[in-house]
Amino acid sequence: MGKVLIIGAGGVGTVVAHKVAQNPEVFTDVMIASRTRSKCDAIVKAIGNPAIQTAQVDADNVDELTALFDSFKPDIVINVALPYQDLTIMEACLKSGVNYLDTANYEPKDVAHFEYSWQWAYKQRFEEAGLTAILGCGFDPGVSGIFTAYAAKHYFDEIEYLDIVDCNAGNHHKAFATNFNPEINIREITQNGRYYQDGKWVTTAPLEIHKDLTYPNIGARDSYLLYHEELESLVKNFPTIKRARFWMTFGQEYLTHLRVIQNIGMARIEDVEYNGMKIVPMQFLKAVLPNPQDLGENYEGETSIGCRIRGMKEGKEHTYYIYNNCNHQAAYKETGMQAVSYTTGVPAMIGAMMFLQGKWKKAGVWNVEEFNPDPFMEQLNKQGLPWHEVMDGDLELNP
Ligand code: NDP
Repeated sequence: MGKVLIIGAGGVGTVVAHKVAQNPEVFTDVMIASRTRSKCDAIVKAIGNPAIQTAQVDADNVDELTALFDSFKPDIVINVALPYQDLTIMEACLKSGVNYLDTANYEPKDVAHFEYSWQWAYKQRFEEAGLTAILGCGFDPGVSGIFTAYAAKHYFDEIEYLDIVDCNAGNHHKAFATNFNPEINIREITQNGRYYQDGKWVTTAPLEIHKDLTYPNIGARDSYLLYHEELESLVKNFPTIKRARFWMTFGQEYLTHLRVIQNIGMARIEDVEYNGMKIVPMQFLKAVLPNPQDLGENYEGETSIGCRIRGMKEGKEHTYYIYNNCNHQAAYKETGMQAVSYTTGVPAMIGAMMFLQGKWKKAGVWNVEEFNPDPFMEQLNKQGLPWHEVMDGDLELNP
């Protein structure tokens, strides 16, 4: 049905490649390209399908990207490199006439700043080129927005309160490790918290607000209010929302390490002079921390990510909780990666599938909640991320 080019051969790229390979009737030609070609080759070897092609590419370089796109001629690019590469890959897509999908919004390298403005600015150019760009199609952002769109379509006239709740109750048996790219992860967590209330954004100190939330099959876990990028598009696309927040669980051990890392300056993203060369402390830290891709083998437990929604239907108030639990070991057995990479890579593959099947095809730049959620939700159940829903239960997060 279509040709797909996966850019990035990290934890998420590995999962995307496995899932794409499991759906050969949709993805008829596949290429994996990344900065380090040997990593792409290792993924192909693990999958055991030599028909998957590989290539080296510097995704910061638009000319290199267009040369690759023009020779492979993909229908869609799945960008699972880093958020820094979003704009160069979008530029190259426009030059070569290729459709686009990613899992994280653009961030400039020198300032940790999360907003869609840079990518939304491409809307008109994608429209004029007749190309589709699907933004933020991982789990959160991604499935969190699709769950919200599904709730709005089937259960609510007006969504008023939205809490996205993300729990990782897994144990990788390391003193400290991040579950995806450490630089991106630590930049996100050490930012101020922010949530939306009555038409305004409220800023909190980093990790200032937290409370125990109870997750299905897991129990109570201390959950911290963070800013997360999908809040920006969800409050725009569902203007009835009065309050939108994002919560993520962290253990005390993790937070203690994080505090020390920050206090000693290792989370800094400006470069420092060291032995006559410039290094970025955060990038050096990444080099010495465990590689998130190596965590899978000993990872136990599960993740639970979902949306807790309160709103109105036919004049009556209702609550709705929709979630997926994903087991780290099951994800590892299937793809060699833990559940955090798995829950990101599976939706990215499904998004590309929706595009190739013509179900999510419209010229312009879109967030996932702007497409029909139903065929995507159906595929989540088939592709390894089954979801569950609770109507009118206690959300624990009442106003
Ligand atoms: P990794 O660091 O494991 O992998 C990133 C990959 O991108 C690596 O293979 C890296 O190459 C490659 N890469 C980096 N820079 C370039 C470049 N300039 N040119 C070509 N390739 C490059 O990250 P993850 O797999 O953990 O995460 C991938 C993406 O998924 C990130 O954008 C992350 O923010 C996002 N994500 C989204 C989530 C969601 O739910 N929406 C959750 C988790 C992650 P090399 O191997 O040489 O370093």
